[in-house]
Amino acid sequence: MNREIKLAILNKIEEYDRIMLFRHVRNDGDCVGATKGLKRIIQLTWPEKEVYLIDGEIARYLEFMGPEDEEVSDEIYKSALGIVLDTASEARISNKKYALCKELVKIDHHIPLENYGDYRWVEEERSSCCEMVVDFYRTFADRLKIDKEAAQHLYTGMVTDSGRFKYDGVTGETLRNAAALLDVGVDTDMLFARLYLEAFEYLKFKAHIYNKMEVTPNGVAYIFVDKAMQEQFSLTLEQASAIIGTLDAIRGCISWAAFIETGDEAGSIRVRLRSRFVHINSIAEKYHGGGHACASGATVYSQEEMMALLADTDALVKEYKETHEGWL
Ligand code: AMP
Repeated sequence: MNREIKLAILNKIEEYDRIMLFRHVRNDGDCVGATKGLKRIIQLTWPEKEVYLIDGEIARYLEFMGPEDEEVSDEIYKSALGIVLDTASEARISNKKYALCKELVKIDHHIPLENYGDYRWVEEERSSCCEMVVDFYRTFADRLKIDKEAAQHLYTGMVTDSGRFKYDGVTGETLRNAAALLDVGVDTDMLFARLYLEAFEYLKFKAHIYNKMEVTPNGVAYIFVDKAMQEQFSLTLEQASAIIGTLDAIRGCISWAAFIETGDEAGSIRVRLRSRFVHINSIAEKYHGGGHACASGATVYSQEEMMALLADTDALVKEYKETHEGWL
């Protein structure tokens, strides 16, 4: 599928001596895995090329994936091919110097919010961007090289973005791509331990959330994690945000949301919105966000706006439930 654009991207990588990889703000396993995995594939295949991955930060739970490159001069950016992975819009690219690159490639699996880049390969039905990188490797396996390090990065992104191969977007092709990585060699025991073991104190926070969570009349489960709660449990924003996962298995609640007070000057509240069966990305788009059909992010700036978003989601869920059968 999409062989032409993949070939165009391969040829571009071949043409440039310098390649720079970019990803989205609030990085996650998929964008980190895709950038690190593709970087490793390029380095193995063309050892003479300069490949840079420069990003100011990496989420603490992903630090095990290793360090990244030091900042370089603007001149280096200007002569490079930029490849942006897993990022729907320019505003969400974390390293803003991507704009200096001579040419730009976009490889993404989000619903496109805008068209940026000189070459675009977007497959929104893919379960992760890492899966696209594996597909890229497998399409040109006669020309590209891979090793255990690259496989480990790419598998990390495939596992995290697909909810451990649980979500709707997982297909036979997803598992064939994952299988190709396992054939190369992935330490799954260690990976799952690094990703999913939880601290004793965090489980206490979860217990608190189960006590405090609420449900709208038509079945949207939600929780507001304000600054006081974050301080009470000594949580980073990242840890507080991860709480969305605890609301995902309530029978009848086909959508759920976590609101995380960020404490910034604008009074912004991070919204993590999820669903099964019903599509909620239109709600996220209305509130300064976007994402996938069943997993989106947004931002609101007051508790009133938070309640408005919840009312919109509740109405959407109501309509869905009235017009569909078989939801759980
Ligand atoms: P999150 O809850 O932040 O993990 O977001 C869920 C999905 O929506 C991820 O794939 C994000 O990349 C995407 N997303 C989050 N916020 C935005 C936004 N403001 N604009 C577009 N996509 C977003």
